[in-house]
Amino acid sequence: MTATLLDYDEVLERFDPVLGLEVHVELSTATKMFCGCSTAFGAEPNTQVCPVCLGLPGSLPVVNGAGVESAIRIGLALNCEIADWCRFARKNYFYPDQPKNFQTSQYDEPICFDGYLDVELSEGEIVRIGIERAHMEEDTGKMLHVGGATGRIHGADHSLLDYNRSGVPLIEIVTKPIEGAGARAPEVARAYVTALRDLVRSLGVSDVRMDQGSMRCDANVSLRPLGTETFGTRTETKNVNSLRSVQRAVRFEMCRQAAVLTDGGEIVQETRHFHETDGSTTAGRRKETSEDYRYFPEPDLVPIAPSHAWVERLRATLPEKPAEHRKRIQADWKLSDEELRDLVSAGAVELVEATVAAGADSEAARGWWVSYLLQQANTREIELAELPITPEHVARVIALVAGGELTTALARQVVDGVLAGEGEPDAVVEARGLKVVSDDSALTAAVDEALAAQPDVAEKIRGGKVAAAGAIVGAVMKATSGQADAKRVRELILERCGG
Ligand code: ADP
Ligand code: MG
Ligand code: ZN
Repeated sequence: MTATLLDYDEVLERFDPVLGLEVHVELSTATKMFCGCSTAFGAEPNTQVCPVCLGLPGSLPVVNGAGVESAIRIGLALNCEIADWCRFARKNYFYPDQPKNFQTSQYDEPICFDGYLDVELSEGEIVRIGIERAHMEEDTGKMLHVGGATGRIHGADHSLLDYNRSGVPLIEIVTKPIEGAGARAPEVARAYVTALRDLVRSLGVSDVRMDQGSMRCDANVSLRPLGTETFGTRTETKNVNSLRSVQRAVRFEMCRQAAVLTDGGEIVQETRHFHETDGSTTAGRRKETSEDYRYFPEPDLVPIAPSHAWVERLRATLPEKPAEHRKRIQADWKLSDEELRDLVSAGAVELVEATVAAGADSEAARGWWVSYLLQQANTREIELAELPITPEHVARVIALVAGGELTTALARQVVDGVLAGEGEPDAVVEARGLKVVSDDSALTAAVDEALAAQPDVAEKIRGGKVAAAGAIVGAVMKATSGQADAKRVRELILERCGG
């Protein structure tokens, strides 16, 4: 069933969007939140399990200290208060991916609460997003539905369960309602998730890969008539797994809900699924209320009471804030405001830094990431960081250009080769035969041929019109498929023409 959508401009003439973003971050601790099982990604199913994370009767959980430490550091980075005393809670529900029949989570006593994150929009404007809480919980297992066309449970023959992920530490970060974003609501949602990802990554507590599920976003959206105060009923679009999808999902929900409301209908509070293919959402389940979960304090775990001294020690480990970091980069690399903004909105700051750390000049590194590589990412509809090329590869390509072994055109072919999975830059150069030809005998022959083919131009150069040499350089480059060293070619032309 395809939803009716109201035109975006019309949505904004009548309605005011309110957003709420819930982001789950999977921590990169070595072991799970309540047992000693490994959290390594990609292992054989059900090889990283024990009685605790399988929820076997009589097993007792123990809190992972490193998980609590990461939670506090995330909270501090989000300007939150840190509870001096808090507990875990059982969120009771039956579902096969959670064999205990409850998820160990936090409810009314989150470890971090009442913070904010300043987020920069593409125009450079800063929006402050309120953080309601950041709490600790555990991930569920993974289900694989086999035999159907869609991978969904409907139409499948059977389902497989993998509990390796069950019990992996998660931090859920929930915003306060985001009001006043208006037409920019989809952009604000994306900018917030981007800023949060960068912040968490800078803390080194998660690899925050949306494509691998180590960062997942649920987007709550509601509309209220322009000029009114009371919030409308919200929908919650689950597991939106890329930055671009966050933006699309919010926009889609705004247009869909506006069409329903304009038509005199009502919004149902429900979860919705996002579809990458067409950017639409479809109804999931009716939303449970918190009463349905029968939350109660977890009796098998002791309360967490972080001492003031511990919290202050953790505060001292916080890295430079991304915004300050950017200011420093701007100064170090001598960027204009616009250049910095392009770099940030391309998601290229860290990639360029890593490329510089691998030995490249900052200007060259920036040039590659925000132009050629960004185009490649856009064509593939993925994020820059997801391109199958590393900062070390880019630094190597830059070094080859700087050393005169590659021209820019050849360097692009090398990058294409790396992106196509042909191996490291040097291997691509070798396999595709992309070295610059600077061997004089080969170049002289090509120059002579080009001069002979265009005698009138040759005559002009001999007559002192040095600018005419450009045409011959072009011809030589063409004849050598771009592999000639252009500077040397020009010198040879002038030599041959008695310059
Ligand atoms: P749930 O348990 O239903 O997921 P949470 O409190 O965890 O609820 O998250 C709800 C999110 O939606 C929060 O970010 C909250 O600020 C936001 N929110 C609450 N009410 C509305 C509303 N009417 N419209 C949009 N967002 C809302
Ligand atoms: Mg929630
Ligand atoms: Zn375990």
